[in-house]
Amino acid sequence: MKAAVVTQLGQPLELQERAVPEPSIDQILVRIEASGLCHTDIHAAHGDWPVKPTPPFVPGHEGVGIVEKLGERVTAHQLGDRVAIPWLGHACGHCRYCVDGRETLCESQQNSGYSIDGAFAEYAVVDARYAVTVPEGVEPFDAAPLSCAGVTSYKSVKVAHVQPGETVAVFGIGGLGHLAVQYARLVGAVVIAVDIDSDKLELATSLGADHVVNAAQVDPVAAIQALGGADVALAYAVSPQSFEQAFSSLSRGGRLVCVALPAEGTMSIPIFETVLKGIEIIGSIVGTRQDLAEVFELHALGRTRVIAEGRKLEQVNESIAELLDGQIQARLVFEF
Ligand code: NAD
Ligand code: ZN
Ligand code: ZN
Repeated sequence: MKAAVVTQLGQPLELQERAVPEPSIDQILVRIEASGLCHTDIHAAHGDWPVKPTPPFVPGHEGVGIVEKLGERVTAHQLGDRVAIPWLGHACGHCRYCVDGRETLCESQQNSGYSIDGAFAEYAVVDARYAVTVPEGVEPFDAAPLSCAGVTSYKSVKVAHVQPGETVAVFGIGGLGHLAVQYARLVGAVVIAVDIDSDKLELATSLGADHVVNAAQVDPVAAIQALGGADVALAYAVSPQSFEQAFSSLSRGGRLVCVALPAEGTMSIPIFETVLKGIEIIGSIVGTRQDLAEVFELHALGRTRVIAEGRKLEQVNESIAELLDGQIQARLVFEF
C-alpha cells in the first residue's frame, strides 16, 4: 500500500510502499477512502510540540474508510462498515477520565498519526472501540474533516457553554474555525469571525458569521470591543498573539477557549483583568466518540457544510505548503 511517512522531523514526507498492516486482536483494518489534512499533522511532521512523535510514522487523524478485516475480539464494527479514525485512537477505558466522560484526557491514550500510524495511507488499523461509525447521509469526503476539525470545534463551543444571544468571536477561520462559525450559529450565538485573510472572512460570512474582522488590517480587540465585546472567544489561529487578542476582546464574565497549538506556545494573560472581569480560561482537546457521533448526526440532518478541496496523497508535501501559505479555503482532503 501507499503511505506518506515522516522519516525525519522537519523534512518532507516520503511516499513509501508498505505492507498492509494486520489488525491485532482488538483492531480493525480500514481501507481509507478520504483523509483530511489537519494543521496538527504539520505540527507532528515538524516536531513542534514538547512531546514529539518518533519517526518513522504515518500522520493523519481524519481518516474515513471501510472496515475490511476484524481482529478476533472485535464486536464494535462489522465488515463493510464505514468508520472514522480520529485523533483518539485508543484509551485505557478504565481510568477516572475514561469512565467519567472525559476520555480525551486519558493518560494512557494513543493518538492516530502521532504515537501510532495514522490515515495518510491506503490502509490503517485502529482499535475498533475508538473508530466511530459514519452514518448514512454523511459522505466520506465530508466525514473526514468532521472527524477532527468538526468534533474539535463542536466540543469547544460545548465547553464554553454558549447561551443563545451571546456573542462568540472565532479567531482563525481555517479547518476548525469554518465549522466553529456554524456550531456557534447552531446554538444561537451572534458570531464575529476573525482572520488575517479576506477570502476566509468572505467564507465565514457565507457560512453565517454576523460580523467579520480582518486582524491584518485593524486591531481585532478594538473592533470587537466596538461591537460590544465577546462573551466567548475561540482561539484556533496558530499564533500566540491571537490568543492574547482573543482574551482582550472578552466582556466581563467571558470565556476564552484555547484550541490551537502553536509551536511557541506561551501567552501572557493579565491577572488583574482576569480576576476583576471574572474571565474563564479553558483548554479544549478534540472531542469524545459521542461528540463525534453528534457531529455526524448534525451533518446528516443538513445543519453543517464542510468546505474542502480534494488532493492525491502524492501531493502531500505541496498540500502542506499550500496550507501554510494560506492558499486553502478551509480544509484539504486526500482522496483514494
Ligand atoms: P488552519 O491552518 O486550517 O487554520 C488556521 C487559521 O488561522 C487560518 O485560516 C489562518 O489564516 C488563521 N490565522 C493565522 N494567523 C492568524 C491571526 N494572527 N489572527 C487570526 N487568524 C489567523 O488550521 P486548523 O487545522 O484549523 O488548526 C488550527 C490549530 O488548532 C492548529 O494549531 C492545530 O494543531 C490545532 N488543533 C487543536 C486541536 C485540539 O484538540 N485542541 C484539534 C485540532 C487542531
Ligand atoms: Zn483512560
Ligand atoms: Zn486534527
